[in-house]
Amino acid sequence: MVKIDGTYGEGGGQIIRTAIALAAITGEEVEIENIRANRPNPGLSAQHLHAVKAVEKLSGGRTEGLELRSTGLKFTPGALNGFEGEIDIGTAGSITLLLQCLIPVAVFADSETKVRIRGGTDVKWSPPMDFYTELFLKAIREMSCDVHLDLKRRGYYPKGNGLVEAKITPSHQLNGIVLVEAERTGEGVVKGISHSCGLPAHVAERQAKAAENVLNAEGYDSELKTEIDERNGKRTTGCGITLWKGYKSGSALGERGKRAERVGEEAAGNIINELESASASTVDVYLADQLIPYIALANGKSEMRVREVTKHLETNMYVTKKFLDVEFVIEEEEKEGEGVVFVIRKG
Ligand code: ATP
Repeated sequence: MVKIDGTYGEGGGQIIRTAIALAAITGEEVEIENIRANRPNPGLSAQHLHAVKAVEKLSGGRTEGLELRSTGLKFTPGALNGFEGEIDIGTAGSITLLLQCLIPVAVFADSETKVRIRGGTDVKWSPPMDFYTELFLKAIREMSCDVHLDLKRRGYYPKGNGLVEAKITPSHQLNGIVLVEAERTGEGVVKGISHSCGLPAHVAERQAKAAENVLNAEGYDSELKTEIDERNGKRTTGCGITLWKGYKSGSALGERGKRAERVGEEAAGNIINELESASASTVDVYLADQLIPYIALANGKSEMRVREVTKHLETNMYVTKKFLDVEFVIEEEEKEGEGVVFVIRKG
């Protein structure tokens, strides 16, 4: 049995998602203690609980200690059969984080997984929906994962009630991803989506305009779309913007009292930081940690360059190594005029 200490590194929910997914794929039993010990509200929250329940269904597994706020659990996997159904997180718990746990398992299942998930699509501290479709899915497709996500409606904090349909066709064999050449600074276009729900159209438009002003002033061309849904129905009003260029992103969310211009400028500042602080980087800090389990599961060589080795990245390597016989090499590289970059290699 694999034992994991939930206080390691980042000490957040990612430890659970990666550990449960890899336990299901490898068939290893896992016990996790001190769940989310480094967070102000330790233990399982709705998003983690539903992620484990989904993997239970997919893998015919069973879990001891699976309840809200539980700080320890033991998961025993079964056979990976795929799963069709619905998951309602019931809050604005992040759909993309739930998918972080579900997708790798479904990729290794015996049959297709089709699932409708209700929850938050654009919420703090988690991958925004457009990051998922425009960066993460593209990267794992390069690794032979056949995953399709259909955003039916966005959901924001606190009510959530966004809806995403996911279809995952098993691939079993993944190939590595080698991302050596950075998209050159200043070349190409920054793309993006500025979205709002239950707010006047000018909010998303101003977010986009402010982001474009910052990007254009820094020498980047931009192609931003707006996605405006003026009726919120049972959903919380909300807004945000995600920008991307290659495998690097910047995003920001609106909140009461925060001007639309500030939201746009924040997202633009975030992507410019990714593009310029280490111009030789090939992925942003978020994609780097999220690709680790896939790289570990894939055959052959993988390589990516990132501007910073985050705790999330270190934690995912730690959990991954508990289940798989894998070595990651991290090398610091400095080139004149390009800043410091960390090369992450496997194989
Ligand atoms: P906790 O509530 O314990 O923090 P959690 O389940 O919300 O737990 P973390 O363990 O903090 O999650 O993991 C967050 C994940 O979300 C990481 O994989 C991180 O890369 C990703 N993430 C966070 N912010 C962004 C962002 N702006 N863009 C893309 N990905 C993001």
